[in-house]
Amino acid sequence: MKARFFVGLSNDRRILLMFSKYIFSSLLAVIMAASGLLSLQAYGQLESGWKTHDLNRPAPKVVTPSKEAISIKPPSDALILFDGSNFDSWRGGVEGWKIVDNAMVFVDKAGPLMTKEEFGDCQLHLEWAAPAEVKGKGQQRGNSGVFLMNAFELQVLDGYENPTNADTSAASIYGQYPPLVNASRRPGQWQSYDIIFRAPRFGDDGKLLERARMTALHNGVLVQDNSEILGPTSWLKHRQYAQGKTTGPIRIQDHGSPVRYRNIWIRRLADQRPLPKQPYPQTALKLSPEKQKRLIGTYPTGNQKEFHIFEKEGRVYCKLYGVRMRMLAVSETEFTFEKTAGKITFQLSENGEVESANLQLDGGGVRTGKKKKEASPKKVQPKSGKDKRATEKSAK
Ligand code: MG
Repeated sequence: MKARFFVGLSNDRRILLMFSKYIFSSLLAVIMAASGLLSLQAYGQLESGWKTHDLNRPAPKVVTPSKEAISIKPPSDALILFDGSNFDSWRGGVEGWKIVDNAMVFVDKAGPLMTKEEFGDCQLHLEWAAPAEVKGKGQQRGNSGVFLMNAFELQVLDGYENPTNADTSAASIYGQYPPLVNASRRPGQWQSYDIIFRAPRFGDDGKLLERARMTALHNGVLVQDNSEILGPTSWLKHRQYAQGKTTGPIRIQDHGSPVRYRNIWIRRLADQRPLPKQPYPQTALKLSPEKQKRLIGTYPTGNQKEFHIFEKEGRVYCKLYGVRMRMLAVSETEFTFEKTAGKITFQLSENGEVESANLQLDGGGVRTGKKKKEASPKKVQPKSGKDKRATEKSAK
């Protein structure tokens, strides 16, 4: 068709026609992009910049972890999920899993294990071992997984010299984030995961405010650094958060490989640090310049130590060992500090002069300083004849 269309046209006209077609298609693309019909969004990559299971994603660099398995005994506030003796904390495929040498071992078609209790924010320690006998490759080799909230998988896989998708390799957040490095030990050797997990946050209306986040160490090596999870992990597809869900069981995946687990414990984490029972006052008393000035001076506390009270730009500060703290007046003689906990109380003489101060900071007890008397100004004698004349002149 093309050839027939150009028949009968001169060479110049042909070039002109081709050039016009090129200009027209470029203009069309610009118009489509401007109208939103053609944009990068249309290609649908994840926020990470990659697509799920992107084969172009670089494999994590191999880092050889510690020679010894890292086994951390549970601290006193941990809930023991598995200590080698029973499946009391678990439901699901309990009948199928076996306990061998204090480790739970997956047996074919057993089904996944799930904790009876649900967890949100938590610290989880567990140890696992891929089968010593290497069978299969890639995702078929020693595959299992640890799901937080029954939704977010930290991949368990024999990652030792076993190339596979970066985002589904050992210690990946499945399908989303490859581990920062590949810290896998050899098949059959015990490995550890230490996971710090923060559940997603939702508003009262069920709207997602913050995604779940995960930090993880694989054999003591950082592999996930506060990774913001894009949604429940899944094979091939991208899923949305379940509205309002902030807890769920821990799930150990059944992926058909005889992976072993031992020493599993968990600590629930508070969702925020405690706040003061009584909020601190937000306003400070305004002192008259005279009442502020009388505080200024040096306060020796003995053993050649001292603190200083000084003024700058109308504000009054206490300086101890070179650390300057702004003082906020509670009364004419009592002050707290901006940002730093503590107080300073001044003692006055009968005629209202400051005599001493008690400084209380950081549980270090009371430092009492007696205010140094200001030396009376010395009379300076002019040294040279010229200076002497100048002094005499100014006196006149
Ligand atoms: Mg898995």
